[in-house]
Amino acid sequence: MGTVINIVIAVAACYFIMRFGMKMLGGFSQPMAEPLPPGEMRKVKLNYRCDICGSEARMTMAPDEDPPAPRHCLDDMVLITPVE
Ligand SMILES: [Zn+2]
Repeated sequence: MGTVINIVIAVAACYFIMRFGMKMLGGFSQPMAEPLPPGEMRKVKLNYRCDICGSEARMTMAPDEDPPAPRHCLDDMVLITPVE
């Protein structure tokens, strides 16, 4: 019984380490997007919150209406729907 639980914990730990490692690598290898000229930017009103530290940010301009979430504390921020 104890062995099975140990294996499960080991596999889970391995999985999280791999995931975190891949995320780090992905972040480093991703080329920075070239900024678009202002005329091609869309006006958006998106609120994001960092689940880890609670910071909130508003995105007002983006290359498209459904931009990828900004990052904070090494993780993607969560899109929160505006109250208004
Ligand atoms: Zn944060």
